[in-house]
Amino acid sequence: MFVDKAKINIKAGNGGNGSVSFLRDKITMTGGPDGGSGGRGGHVIFEATNNLNNLVDFYYTKKYRAENGVDGGHLKCNGRNGEDLIIKVPCGTVVRDEETGNVVADLFYEGDKKIILKGGAGGRGNSVFATPTRQSPAYAETGVKTKDFNVILELKTIADVGLIGFPSVGKSKILSVLTKAKPKIADYHFTTLTPNLGVASYDNIRFLMADIPGLIEGASEGKGLGFEFLRHVERTRMLVHVVDIAAVDGRNPVEDFVVINEELKKYSKELAKVPQLVVLNKMDLIWEENEHLVKEFKEKYGKDYKIIEFSAATLQGKNELLGAIVNTLATLPKQEPQNIELVELDKTDRTSL
Ligand code: GDP
Ligand code: MG
Repeated sequence: MFVDKAKINIKAGNGGNGSVSFLRDKITMTGGPDGGSGGRGGHVIFEATNNLNNLVDFYYTKKYRAENGVDGGHLKCNGRNGEDLIIKVPCGTVVRDEETGNVVADLFYEGDKKIILKGGAGGRGNSVFATPTRQSPAYAETGVKTKDFNVILELKTIADVGLIGFPSVGKSKILSVLTKAKPKIADYHFTTLTPNLGVASYDNIRFLMADIPGLIEGASEGKGLGFEFLRHVERTRMLVHVVDIAAVDGRNPVEDFVVINEELKKYSKELAKVPQLVVLNKMDLIWEENEHLVKEFKEKYGKDYKIIEFSAATLQGKNELLGAIVNTLATLPKQEPQNIELVELDKTDRTSL
C-alpha cells in the first residue's frame, strides 16, 4: 500500500442572516414586515477522481472555504445560497478528523462524492414571523455560523501490480519504462526506500504498478529493510517477480528466485498465493558466458510460471510483458474498498436553528 498524506483545514459557508425590514411606500402606508431570509452556506464536498494520483496539491493549498450564504433583503428577497466547494481527491483517499482520528470518508471509486461539512442554514427574515396577532415582528434570525475543521487526507492506493526481487535487479528501472513514474535508479543496493507508484496502460487498460523495495534474505523475520516494506505488497492483485538474469552482481538468479519466494511464504501465505509473472531482466547483457542461466531458469521454472525475457535498457519484451500483465489482471477479482465505519465530522445540526 502506498500512503501519501496531507493535512488541510476546511470550513462550510455560514448561513446568511435574515433581514428585518418593513414595506414603506406611497401606496402602502403601513406596510407589513418584508425582510427576506438568508441563503444557506455552501457545503464542503469531496469527490474521487482517477485524474489525480497523489495529494501533492494539498501541500500548497491548506485552507478550503465554501462560500457563505447571502443575507436576506427587502421585499421578501431571500439571500442566495453560498456555492458548494467541491474538493477533488484521488481515488483511494481516506479522510480523517484530526482531532478524533475518526474516518469521515473513504473515497474509493471514480465519482464517489460525499458532503463532509454542511453549510449553515440561512436565518429567517422577519416576514416569516408575521402572524395575525403579531403583525410587525421586529426581529429576524442570524444565519448559522460554521466551524472550521482540520482533516487528514491519506491516499491508500493499493497497486494492481507489485514488482518484487532482489536489490538492483532493475525494479525501479522497469517501473520507469512502463509508467511515467520517476523512481531513483542506481547501481547500488537499497535505493528504493519507499515504494514508488506509476500508472501503466496497454490496450486501453490502465493499471497501477508499485516498485517494492528490495527483499532480502531474512526479511520476514524483521532483518534488514524487507519486513516493513513487505506490507506494501500485501494487497496487490499480482506480482511481477524480477530477476537479474545476466547476474551482473555475481549472484545466482536461479537460486535467488527461490529465496525471494521463500521469504514471501514466511511473511504471508496469502501473499505467496498471489499470481506471479517472472521477468528475466537485463537480457541485453546476455552473452555466451551467461546464456546458460536463461536456459537453466526456464528449465527449472518454466512449467510453473510464465517467464518473459526482457530488458529495461532496450525495451525488448515490453509489449509481451504488458500484454501478460493485462491478461492476468483480467482473470483476477477487482479491488474493493476496506470496510471502514464512517463517522460524521460535524455533528451539529446545521439545517435548523
Ligand atoms: P532495483 O534495486 O531493483 O530497483 O534496481 P534499479 O532499477 O535501481 O537498477 C539497478 C541497476 O541496473 C541500474 O544501474 C540500472 O540502470 C540497471 N538496469 C536495470 N535494468 C537493466 C537492463 O535491462 N539492462 C541493463 N543493462 N541495465 C539495467
Ligand atoms: Mg529500486
